Parts: sequence; C-alpha cells; structure tokens
Amino acid sequence: MNQYIQEAIELSFQGQRAGLGGPFGAVIVKDGVIIGRGHNRVTSSHDPTAHAEIVAIREACTYLGTHQLSGCELYTSCEPCPMCLGAIFWARPDRVYYACTHEQASDAGFDDSFIYEQVALPPSERGLPMIHLPTEGAQAAFDEWKRNEAKIHY
Ligand SMILES: [Zn+2]
Repeated sequence: MNQYIQEAIELSFQGQRAGLGGPFGAVIVKDGVIIGRGHNRVTSSHDPTAHAEIVAIREACTYLGTHQLSGCELYTSCEPCPMCLGAIFWARPDRVYYACTHEQASDAGFDDSFIYEQVALPPSERGLPMIHLPTEGAQAAFDEWKRNEAKIHY
C-alpha cells in the first residue's frame, strides 16, 4: 500500500479517536517528504472549515512559506468535499490521491452531494438565499487591485 495514503488513513483514525473531529486525514508530499499533515478538527476547534485537507494545506504552506503547492501531491483518506476541492484548486498541488469515495462518506453520515448540487445551481436557485447587492464603490477595490504594482498574483 502507498505509504502516504496509509498515513492519511492513519490520521483519519487518530483524529476521531482523540475526539477532535470526523474520520478524515490528509497529508501533503513534496519530493518524497511529508510537509503537511491534517485530520478533521471541525468540532474541537469550532471551525467548520477545519477539514483534513484544509489543515494539511495550511501546514504545508506555512512550512514552505508560500501560498502555492506546485510540485506537491495531496493524499487524502476520502474524496474531497466541494470546499476542499476549491481550496485544493487554489493551492494548486500537482495531483490528488484519495482512498474512500464521497459515496462511502455519505454512507457514514457525511453527505456533501447536496453541496455539489447547490454549486451547480444559479445563485438565485440555491437553498441558501444569495442576494446580489450591486453597490457603488464595490468595484473600486478591483480597479485598485488592477493598478496595484505591489500585488502578488495568485
Ligand atoms: Zn472538505
């Protein structure tokens, strides 16, 4: 078995056995070295974004001192949820490996399929009301960004 996916799975046990969150684990690998580890910490840290992948991404980026994970691979005990998938795209690792599928997660009580369905809908049709408030001055932040010569692209 792949040692990195094995480590991600081990973290999925550690987190839940310590009462820190759901049964999910993830590691990030660069050049054969694990540079980020994470297990779910949602309930213990009162943070709905503290999924294993997010925790691992934060640790790896802190370690590398960058906001990008190019040249890295992410191993996770379960197929990423839509939030983590978005974070992974922003972090830009080279590849993602996952052990369990989102169907298996759903069977254990973690049903993120409704979020995938919601993402596919126009904002006005989502179950969570999303109201567009066009506001004078809001665009100015983008205009300033476009002119900002000190900006760091990401
Ligand atoms: Zn997630």
